Amino acid sequence: MLNIVLFGPPGAGKGTQAEFLINAFGLIHLSTGDLLRSEIAAGTKLGLEAKAFMDKGELVPDAVVIGMIKSKLEANKDAKGFIFDGFPRTVDQAKALDELLNANGTPISGMLSLEVEKQELIDRLLSRGISSGRADDQDQSIIENRINVYNEKTSPLIEYYKKQGKHFGINGMGTIDEIAERLKAVVEKL
Ligand code: ADP
Repeated sequence: MLNIVLFGPPGAGKGTQAEFLINAFGLIHLSTGDLLRSEIAAGTKLGLEAKAFMDKGELVPDAVVIGMIKSKLEANKDAKGFIFDGFPRTVDQAKALDELLNANGTPISGMLSLEVEKQELIDRLLSRGISSGRADDQDQSIIENRINVYNEKTSPLIEYYKKQGKHFGINGMGTIDEIAERLKAVVEKL
């Protein structure tokens, strides 16, 4: 089983590249951001609670996102593998994911970490805000907060996966195709 954590700050291109990787390798895409946005769209209680955090650019509580991932893993037992996009985002989420996957004997194969300069992240998010209408992409101070939350709570995961020998840094600057090629070259060797 090929289990990939697609990692990087907000605006690094995780969603775009996940689309390419699921097609190239036949994997299932698990994006906690997408899952949370569908809960909001469906007007569920979980969605309503999550929205308050997301609108401020804060993280949704670990228990909520871990529960969502757990049920998706259980619902897709026959999958060839998964791309985790936007998850894990804290060390506690990473530990929970390791426990879930190790219990099935299907550990993380590798963490692909997209590296993008801060100004480029802000520019990409603001232009996505114009085209997608996503509220959290339209306000520079919310974007800055998401990048700060990433630096504080999420970037420690780089060390976490380095210690397991699973971290692969990928240059995330360039065209979509160039970055896709870089990712593909790493995934083929996992
Ligand atoms: P981006 O990577 O551009 O920030 P996402 O769609 O991954 O976009 O996430 C949007 C928002 O959803 C985050 O700012 C956060 O509030 C919430 N979110 C998504 N995934 C998680 C997660 N694993 N843990 C906590 N909150 C999450």
